Amino acid sequence: MEKNILVVGGGVIGLSSGICLLERGWNVTLYSSEFSPNTTSDVAAALWYPFLSAPIEKTDVWGSFTYDTLKLLTAEKDAGVKMVQTFEYFRSEQPNPSWMSSVDNFERITEDLPSDYVECFSFMTQVIEMPLYLKWLMDRYRLLGGKLEKQTVEDFSKVPDEFSVIVNCTGLDSKELCNDSELYPVRGQIIRIKPLIDKMYLDQQVPTLAYIVPRSKDMILGGVAQEGNWSLEPTEEDRNFILEKCSKIIPNLDKAEIIEDIVGLRPGRSEVRLEKEITSNKTIIHNYGHGGSGVTLSWGCAEEVVELANE
Ligand SMILES: Cc1cc2nc3c(=O)[nH]c(=O)nc-3n(C[C@H](O)[C@H](O)[C@H](O)COP(=O)(O)OP(=O)(O)OC[C@H]3O[C@@H](n4cnc5c(N)ncnc54)[C@H](O)[C@@H]3O)c2cc1C
Repeated sequence: MEKNILVVGGGVIGLSSGICLLERGWNVTLYSSEFSPNTTSDVAAALWYPFLSAPIEKTDVWGSFTYDTLKLLTAEKDAGVKMVQTFEYFRSEQPNPSWMSSVDNFERITEDLPSDYVECFSFMTQVIEMPLYLKWLMDRYRLLGGKLEKQTVEDFSKVPDEFSVIVNCTGLDSKELCNDSELYPVRGQIIRIKPLIDKMYLDQQVPTLAYIVPRSKDMILGGVAQEGNWSLEPTEEDRNFILEKCSKIIPNLDKAEIIEDIVGLRPGRSEVRLEKEITSNKTIIHNYGHGGSGVTLSWGCAEEVVELANE
């Protein structure tokens, strides 16, 4: 029997789900209002790191699977994924993170820290260059025989009858599409600067949030995490705030040559929604609400989508 499935959404979550379904023998069509470079996924910094997502028992499993998959993808020349030595700083003592065993070479450092930081986690994680990675995902999806169409779905009950199973990967737009009052934007702003260093430096505590992410042709400085803010306009206030915070870690970053400021809205939710809903004429597998961890959880969530589709 033909196994037709429709994935809705062409960001990192929809493309990863589509690829995993194709690899397990499904005929996949993907509808999306926008593709790269016009998705939130394009704005992600992006590093593997569980951030602003829940529940932790699940995100640790999805995250660990994704870490291992992304590590394998470092061997793919055009995927834009590399392992990077990373230092995460804290201003107070910390317990071990729940994801400690997922990453390579985890160590604690307490000496020679910048500013007023008192503790540091040192570990290896991936930097994923989203413009390159999303292109690689689309190429891989097409190579496996997946179909892509630029189309907006207004109502799941009205998608063509050939698709009895739908995978909903519409990110923040599920707020309206599924009438989901639990979804909210967490606005982020980043600065793209000329490349300077090749290690990654982080402070992931929201009020002092600062990340310095090395990429091949530029660097990303972040960030902010503003819940409930829908504005897509970069502000000078946020730019100055980010530069000030990053300069506490690497002095003089506030004098870096700026290429551009970019804003994106993370799909915030109390918990990632990854579950099956059976309606009168369709089965819908929801896969959205990944907060600041869409890339970090992408392959683990895609695996679970396949399990739910195969049930
Ligand atoms: C500044 C910033 C930094 C970030 N850094 C990181 C990071 O370092 N690591 C990390 O893991 N995550 C990071 N994130 C979070 C990450 O970007 C998101 O979690 C992720 O992009 C969500 O992916 P998605 O595919 O669900 O959503 P999206 O990328 O928004 O994709 C949704 C897709 O659905 C389509 N769509 C929507 N509605 C419809 C409809 N009705 N019909 C058809 N198509 C529709 C859209 O056009 C789009 O293609 C960051 C986010 C921001 C803003």
